Amino acid sequence: MRDEGLELELEPFVLGGQRYELSPPLLPVALRISQASGAAVFELRLRAHLTGPCMRCLAFAEIESGASAREFHDPDAPPADGLHSDYVSDGHLDVAAWARDVIALELPDQILCRPDCAGLCPVCGKDLNVEPHEHTEREPDPRWAALGELRDQL
Ligand SMILES: [Zn+2]
Ligand SMILES: [Zn+2]
Repeated sequence: MRDEGLELELEPFVLGGQRYELSPPLLPVALRISQASGAAVFELRLRAHLTGPCMRCLAFAEIESGASAREFHDPDAPPADGLHSDYVSDGHLDVAAWARDVIALELPDQILCRPDCAGLCPVCGKDLNVEPHEHTEREPDPRWAALGELRDQL
């Protein structure tokens, strides 16, 4: 059994058209390599901290994603087998690709500055967290005004 501590540099994650970067940029990862009935067993543990824009109001948002994962690899197993890890090629484990997938799987659908973020006003674009408001007085739509005139003529 062997324990390894690695530091990985990963490309930013793109979610909903926004970029989320690792902060700090180097991700510490704990990797344990052991052997079980002829196959290599890889265990990965990590905790990623990502920062980027809130998906509703574009303010600063951050998220913690912690996970552990396990892969088995038997060099003699056929590629479609559960004992054949997709992250191993030519006897080399691609820890960065694996860590990236582990983090991506843990990410929520929405990354928000806070769970109850009110977002931006769809009418005027102002931040509803800073300036809660509603647009109640609606400008009469010129198309309706024209219809009103028609009605008067009938
Ligand atoms: Zn927000
Ligand atoms: Zn508004």
